[in-house]
Order: sequence, then C-alpha cells, then structure tokens
Amino acid sequence: MSQRVAFIGVGNMGAGMAANQVKAGRAVTAFDLSSAALDKAVAAGCKPAGSVAEAVADAEVVITMLPAGKHVRQVYEHDILPNAPKGALLIDCSTIDVDSARAVGEMATGFRFGDAPVSGGIMAADAGTLAFMVGCDEADYPAFEAALTPMARVVFHAGALGSGQAAKICNNMLLGVSMLGVCESLALAEKLGLDPTRFFDIASKSSGQCWSLTSYCPWPGPVEAAPSNRGYNGGFLTALMLKDLKLAQEAAAKAGAATPMGAQAEALYQLFDGLGYGQKDFSAMLQLMRGKLDELA
Ligand code: NAD
Repeated sequence: MSQRVAFIGVGNMGAGMAANQVKAGRAVTAFDLSSAALDKAVAAGCKPAGSVAEAVADAEVVITMLPAGKHVRQVYEHDILPNAPKGALLIDCSTIDVDSARAVGEMATGFRFGDAPVSGGIMAADAGTLAFMVGCDEADYPAFEAALTPMARVVFHAGALGSGQAAKICNNMLLGVSMLGVCESLALAEKLGLDPTRFFDIASKSSGQCWSLTSYCPWPGPVEAAPSNRGYNGGFLTALMLKDLKLAQEAAAKAGAATPMGAQAEALYQLFDGLGYGQKDFSAMLQLMRGKLDELA
C-alpha cells in the first residue's frame, strides 16, 4: 500500500512539492486555508481535506510548508500533535526561526520531528530539485531522507533539532552578503570606466569568484539564466531575502554572535524593500548601487 502523506500548506512552494510526492506514488492528502491553493493541489492528484485535523488523521508522514514560525507553532500545537497518529514522521519544510523549530520539536513527544528547510525556489519545488537541510535525531535521519527524496536534488543531515534552520539562515546570510559585494564591485567597475562584462570575465577567473557572480550575475548579459536578463522578475524575491536576513539577525542576537556584514545586508535589503522593490529578485540591488533605480520597471 502506498505511503500516506499529509501536506499542509500548498502555496507557491508546497504545490509543486506535494505534486512530486504524488508522482512518487504516495497517497497525499492536502489542506490549505486558501481554496485556490488547495484546488491546484487537487488538480495535481492530492486528495483534499477540510481541516488540518482531517488531513493528518491517518498519516504516516506529515509535511508542513507554511509562511513563518507563528503559523508553524500554531498548526503543530493545535492541529497536528493532537490529531496525527503517534509515531508519525513530522517534517516542517518552512523557513522559520531556530527557536520555533526547537519548541515544536520539544512539544512533539511520541513523534519523530525534524526541521527541513529548503534551498531553491518555486521552479526547483516544481521540478523536484530542492536542497533540504535536516535537523533531527541521527537515528531518524534515514526516514527523513526517504520521505524528502521525491522533492529533492540533495538532502543533508545538518545535525540535531534546529540545525536545519540554522544551516538555512547561515547560508542565506552568506548569499545576501556576497550578492551585495558583487553588486558594489560591478557598480564601481562601471564608474571607473571598466566594461562590467570584461570585469565579469576577469573576476570570475580570479579570487573574487563566487556563486552570486558566476551563476547569478546581477549585470545583464554574462549569465543567461540569471534574473538580471528578465528585468529582475522571478528568481529569489528581495522580500524573502529580507525575511531570511531578519531571521539570521534574530538568531545572532540570541546567540551573542557578531554578524556586522549580515546586519548591514539586512539594513540595505530593508531599504530596497521599503523603496517598493520587494517583489524584484534580490540581485536587482545592483541598480540601487548604480543609482539607476529608474532602470527597474
Ligand atoms: P506561500 O504563502 O505561497 O504558501 C504558504 C501557504 O500556507 C499559503 O497557501 C497559505 O494559505 C498556507 N497557510 C497559512 N497558514 C495556514 C494554516 N494555518 N493551515 C493551512 N495552510 C496555511 O509561501 P511559499 O512561497 O510557498 O513559502 C513557504 C515557505 O517556504 C516559507 O517559509 C518561505 O520562507 C519558504 N521558502 C520560500 C521560497 C520561495 O522562493 N517562495 C524559497 C525557499 C523557502
């Protein structure tokens, strides 16, 4: 008999992820507060449920993909933990604060709970090529890996409970900081009269090389697949980068860690979001550095 999966939160990311569970032959029951989101999941082969309680009632695996920590805490405390069968594998794939992930895991006695946030956006969710970083007990990890594989390009065991979220925010803080460095350098190259695409050729083969430059170049042209070639539409939204940078700063303050570059990145993305560019890809920051915001439609 196929494995019974309950999928809670089938929005932009969850829709494709649930569809890939169906494609892997699992019996997926979905629930979302939005009927439009639920209809899309049903069209992809999920069975609809009328509530979280109904969705999880006979589930072997429960996957949540929700906006933020407060939704995750509430749904687990009031709906999932009182209604899911004991022993079920509970996987939260949302990006949330480390404390909420740990608090939910500690509440989940009698279950196997793991935090498993993802790297990759809506296209990777649809294609089943997300990277998962899992925080869970070592002994439970093989079960988490097997449950996540239909949605994944790669699955990592990051460490104990909360480590998945820790890995996610550290990675995204690094990405936010490196993108700003790339934008600033390209803007300076231009001001100094250097052709930015020539600078790209040089830096991408020199010590300035990094993913933000060579795989996601904010200057239109050198990297065909980059959002800079599509008016900075799609990609990884500034608003989501800002969310992750805020989570990183919150975690750093609690841990007493000095993250001055992360703090600066948060402030700059906050400014950019406040100027109305939250729905643009985060590499559009290049145009702020160039003083050419008018080039963003
Ligand atoms: P989304 O808003 O499109 O989807 C979230 C869904 O959860 C919505 O459909 C909403 O109706 C539903 N929901 C909210 N509260 C609920 C509840 N109590 N019960 C049932 N359903 C409920 O968001 P998304 O873009 O799919 O992101 C989901 C998570 O993934 C977030 O934590 C986000 O930070 C993370 N993430 C997003 C991306 C991305 O590119 N969109 C990439 C990586 C990680």
